[in-house]
Amino acid sequence: MSKVALITGITGQDGAYLAEYLIKKGYIVHGIKRRSSMFNTDRIDHLYQDPHVENRNLILHYGDLTDSLNLTRIIGEIQPDEIYNLAAMSHVKVSFDTPEYTANADGLGVLRILEAVRLLNLIPKTRIYQASTSELYGLVQEVPQKETTPFYPRSPYAVAKLYGYWITVNYREAYKMHASNGILFNHESPLRGETFVTRKVTRAVGMQKKVYMGNLSSKRDWGHAKDYVRAMYAILQQDEPSDYVIATGITTTIRDFLRMAFAEIGVEIIFKGENVNEVAVLNYIDEKVFIERVGEVYLDNFRKRIGDEVVGVDPQYFRPTEVDLLIGDATKARTRLGWEPKYDLASLIEDMMLNDIKLMKKESYLKEGGYEVLNYFE
Ligand code: NAP
Ligand code: GDP
Repeated sequence: MSKVALITGITGQDGAYLAEYLIKKGYIVHGIKRRSSMFNTDRIDHLYQDPHVENRNLILHYGDLTDSLNLTRIIGEIQPDEIYNLAAMSHVKVSFDTPEYTANADGLGVLRILEAVRLLNLIPKTRIYQASTSELYGLVQEVPQKETTPFYPRSPYAVAKLYGYWITVNYREAYKMHASNGILFNHESPLRGETFVTRKVTRAVGMQKKVYMGNLSSKRDWGHAKDYVRAMYAILQQDEPSDYVIATGITTTIRDFLRMAFAEIGVEIIFKGENVNEVAVLNYIDEKVFIERVGEVYLDNFRKRIGDEVVGVDPQYFRPTEVDLLIGDATKARTRLGWEPKYDLASLIEDMMLNDIKLMKKESYLKEGGYEVLNYFE
């Protein structure tokens, strides 16, 4: 018999990678997607199966983390062996604009799932993974951050996730649930939402004359989402539930991320000025690298840009309270789960840039349209 998994947030970055990973392991994967006026399943279209196909291994249900009855019905119907609660309003800056909704989805949403499992008498059967976050550390109390580091959340998103973290721990202790938190540091990929800083940059490098950024000095510990979904799975395969930091242990400024992304296409940028007047100027093009990566046909356009400002700062992207530094210590995951990341920052940026160069060519020049079918784990 195949194991059955339920993934909330299956249409998101992590949900898409995890769905493919579990299907390849022989699972039947159920996913919760939100009703939307446009198709919102782009990231999992390569896994989709028509409802008339027999023995499907991917089944989607309409639902929402703010709707207890809906969640309880779905969990009752499918009786999952594992639930991965990845659904969330996941953008820190947006959480300052939508704090109440964020608390409802990211905080109470976790409670709704735990209660559904308890009320349906599924505690002995169902294991639960909660998508916790390094944003919990916020104003960091210790460097690097590990499982025992005190939390100090700095946004409505992080405060909502703090509730999600502790209600998971509480249900584990109170009802002996197999419920675990993955405290994942930032993880990115070609599927990352386009308003997160890494993807905003890799999209902008080939597409935009000048990109406006927020705090260039903040530092993040970035990994690849493909590596991080392997950790989620490993956490639920342990005999005992527990909480794990998942991180690379290396931190980098936004400024250096920009430098590295431009360097992928052979372009050197130089930062000048300070604070809101800081800019980056296109200084030099290594034409051999550029031609290899992007193609000769685009070179003239870029040559004309030497000396131009390609990065600026716009205070609208500053956060009312910022998390300046994140760097994780994943020793527990390495020793107990045997988890190691395969990607480093350079190979992550290369993966994202290669994908976005392809998109840039499609969108701005070739006008091909359509989507390629990609298997993320090939
Ligand atoms: P993402 O790409 O933004 O995906 C979020 C998913 O949640 C999407 O499928 C979204 O649906 C869904 N969703 C949002 N609100 C919902 C609601 N009320 N009801 C049901 N579904 C809802 O995020 P991600 O990067 O994959 O992250 C996955 C999880 O890990 C999130 O909980 C995030 O907070 C957490 N996390 C992420 C990182 C990171 O660096 N990526 C780090 C630590 C923790 P739509 O597609 O319809 O919007
Ligand atoms: P977060 O760590 O979950 O908030 O992930 P983000 O990718 O949204 O932001 C990472 C860091 O990049 C934060 O410290 C932001 O303040 C900083 N940052 C600087 N400029 C930007 C920008 O233009 N957009 C975003 N999203 N973040 C930016």
